[in-house]
Amino acid sequence: MKQVYLDYSATTPVKEEVVQEMIPYYTELYGNPSSLYGAGLVAKEGLEQARERVAKLINADSGEIRFTSCGTEADNWALQGVADALQKKGNHIITSKIEHHAILHTCEYLQKHGFEVTYLDVDSEGFVSPAALEAAIQDSTVLVSIMMANNEVGTVEPVKELAAVAKSHGVLFHTDAVQALGNVPIDVKDLGVDFLSMSAHKIYGPKGTGALYIRKGAAIHNFMHGGAQEAKKRAGTENIAGIIGFGKAAELARENLDAHIGHSQKLRDYFWQRIQENITGVQLNGPGTAGRRHPGNLNVSFDYIEGEAILLMLDANGISVSTGSACSSKSLAPSHVLDALGVPITKMNGTVRFTVGDFTTAEDIDYVVDVLTKIVGRLRELSPVTGQEGW
Ligand SMILES: *Cc1c(COP(=O)(O)O)cnc(C)c1O
Repeated sequence: MKQVYLDYSATTPVKEEVVQEMIPYYTELYGNPSSLYGAGLVAKEGLEQARERVAKLINADSGEIRFTSCGTEADNWALQGVADALQKKGNHIITSKIEHHAILHTCEYLQKHGFEVTYLDVDSEGFVSPAALEAAIQDSTVLVSIMMANNEVGTVEPVKELAAVAKSHGVLFHTDAVQALGNVPIDVKDLGVDFLSMSAHKIYGPKGTGALYIRKGAAIHNFMHGGAQEAKKRAGTENIAGIIGFGKAAELARENLDAHIGHSQKLRDYFWQRIQENITGVQLNGPGTAGRRHPGNLNVSFDYIEGEAILLMLDANGISVSTGSACSSKSLAPSHVLDALGVPITKMNGTVRFTVGDFTTAEDIDYVVDVLTKIVGRLRELSPVTGQEGW
């Protein structure tokens, strides 16, 4: 059966060039970069080259990149590390209602430990307003954390404007750029952010590797305690092969950025056009396709049917997608993101997230639209509420 993967925001396949660069670090180049003999130095060299490649992708200095085990760790570190470092200055943090759980659940943890958190509302397309941020800043505010691109509905936040507001009040600014990396041009110097989270497996690199950009001089405490790795800022023997893979993936992402964005956008727009031509009762959630939206993201509500049912029937046809957020799709709670956008519960239930990427083709989209049209028709025939008021 034909297989079509349309869940690039959940994870991406590791590119062949990336795997090829990683393999030697599992076999002959297995030295510990902290060791002082030859094998250690070779690993250390690889580590530093990867750091430079990741730094270059976001226009940072390589000394500002600290590797972590994933994007989630980078988010936890930014929030808890700044909260620790600045607890004498204040106990207030500002974030948004549509952040990834790596941010929201860390904020909840900090609330249990004496911090106060303001969760900013977003508009119907998912945008955070710089004016609302300005109004929320207090004397006790130590950190603002607003994501760069939303993982469910693709909203690309005005991070530069938001960071400028924080800076004008002397408040540090963190952005979760895990979805934005490789999909939106990122220049940390131009954006004016103090911290930025990244993850390798969303940019065709391996799982289990991420990084936190820490602007030189920005106040943050350590999160992992132990050895002297990562300039004594993040202890633990480095996942060298993973980091090598992240470095290669970052290099490819930088070289292919324009082509990748163009390819994703073209197929995403074609997909949405074909859905609208073939299926009635559909609604796009998040910004319009011509707006400030992640180039590969399509989040669609189908009237009268359950997103889960669509997902399972697409899966039976070899097509992988997700409903709402991949991370919450195992729970029955509606998506906190769609909820914050004001999507009514009836539409929320019928929502599917499709995300395209480098290996998606127009033939894939044609196949998916054919299958999807049949599935939606069949499910609506079975739906007891089709056409009824209240849906
Ligand atoms: C995937 C994702 C994360 C988590 O990254 P991991 O490397 O999987 O831990 C955090 N934030 C956003 C926006 C994401 O999409």
